[in-house]
Amino acid sequence: MALKGLDIFKLTPKTNCKECGSPTCMAFSMKVAQGAVDISKCPHMSEEAMAALSEATAPPMKTIKVGTGDAEYTLGGETVLARHEKTFVSKPRFAVRVTPDMDVDAALAEANKVDYDRIGERMHAEMVYVECNGDAAAFVEAVKKVTGKGKTLVLACKDADAVKAALDVCKDEKPIVNGADASNYEKMVEIAKEAGVVLGVSGKDINELYDTTAAIEKLGYKELVLDTTGATIKETFATTVQVRRACLAKEPDRTFGYPSIVNLSKVAPDDEAMQIALASVFILKYGSIIVMDTMNYARGLALYGLRQNVYTDPQKPMKVEPGIYPLNGADENSVVLTTVDFALTYFVVSGELERSGVPCNLVISDAGGLSVLTAWAAGKLSSTSVAKFIKEEVEPKIKSRKLIIPGKVAVLKGDIEAKLEGWQVIVAPNEAVQLVKFLKDLQANGEI
Ligand code: SF4
Repeated sequence: MALKGLDIFKLTPKTNCKECGSPTCMAFSMKVAQGAVDISKCPHMSEEAMAALSEATAPPMKTIKVGTGDAEYTLGGETVLARHEKTFVSKPRFAVRVTPDMDVDAALAEANKVDYDRIGERMHAEMVYVECNGDAAAFVEAVKKVTGKGKTLVLACKDADAVKAALDVCKDEKPIVNGADASNYEKMVEIAKEAGVVLGVSGKDINELYDTTAAIEKLGYKELVLDTTGATIKETFATTVQVRRACLAKEPDRTFGYPSIVNLSKVAPDDEAMQIALASVFILKYGSIIVMDTMNYARGLALYGLRQNVYTDPQKPMKVEPGIYPLNGADENSVVLTTVDFALTYFVVSGELERSGVPCNLVISDAGGLSVLTAWAAGKLSSTSVAKFIKEEVEPKIKSRKLIIPGKVAVLKGDIEAKLEGWQVIVAPNEAVQLVKFLKDLQANGEI
């Protein structure tokens, strides 16, 4: 049961020393009760008090780390059911399913064709779901083929010996072993503990999933993900939602406080349109790992865009750092363009500038993370702010005195020229997509 601030306060040293960053022990206790700070921030808590409080004040849903290096991902750790309450924290990851009877190299190469950046985020299938088909030797061979390829592995296998042999190949990459159920969980816990990897738990229905997870926790293992895939789409959706609701309820049931795996290859086999539709559903409703037959642009463009929209913190403007961004091999003599620090604007504009092939310096000043017209209307993009940034940050480093400003704020041209002595201000077209022709024409006419 969640502890109240007063319960926590009773266990603090009550010295109000402020070392935790709060003015009093009571203020600290209230923050801990709200989940705003961790109990470990107080260095003076006794061991007994820590032991009593750590479990009771831990977030209801565990944060699980899988994979290593660039392929390390955080799953779970969510605190709310709906994104409008507070931001979601761990975005779902996509896994491509392979089986030993497939051409595994070709399947991986096909999925790897989708790998691009969108607003500073890499979009690709982060995981490979290697599914055992009963042939242990072939399963291990398939695992060998996907090991060391920069993907986090999910080993879907209930045969303890086959899992052990596969872990001998890939355990350093911290895969997930998705193989525990009511019939084998003791053995699987032993294997997962020894290898130090996360264990996936499944059940024939939600009740068995609950009982098996509780039994595994009793064995002292809590590095878990829950396979909420059922026999049908309806059952899968119901289980995935019920599991999340149970762990984030007012009185949370921590037995279900783990991330989930949803296997769309099982509930909608070979049905691309249905898998895309379901993946959209499980991005919104609680899939932590979404397993699909493959990844291609038809799937990726829709799903990655949706995921990025849902998992971006709406309270934080998406900003890029102010500064000078040289493009296409630009140097100090290359023309200067300026726009705002709103991430979407930056990536759209810089993409078009790169496409033009014309060397140029893109200058980003602090506009509060707002788009061009919003920043202008809010007074964050003005002739004064642009002139100040150019004088302080650009003039010492760039010799060119030609500045291209966004077409939507053409009205600033005269004022900027008045404030920036020696600069020629050129107005760009209204739309970023027109920049390629615009720059090429300026270059062909010798104007830049
Ligand atoms: S650090 Fe501990 S003892 Fe000091 S004010 Fe914070 S809660 Fe109280």
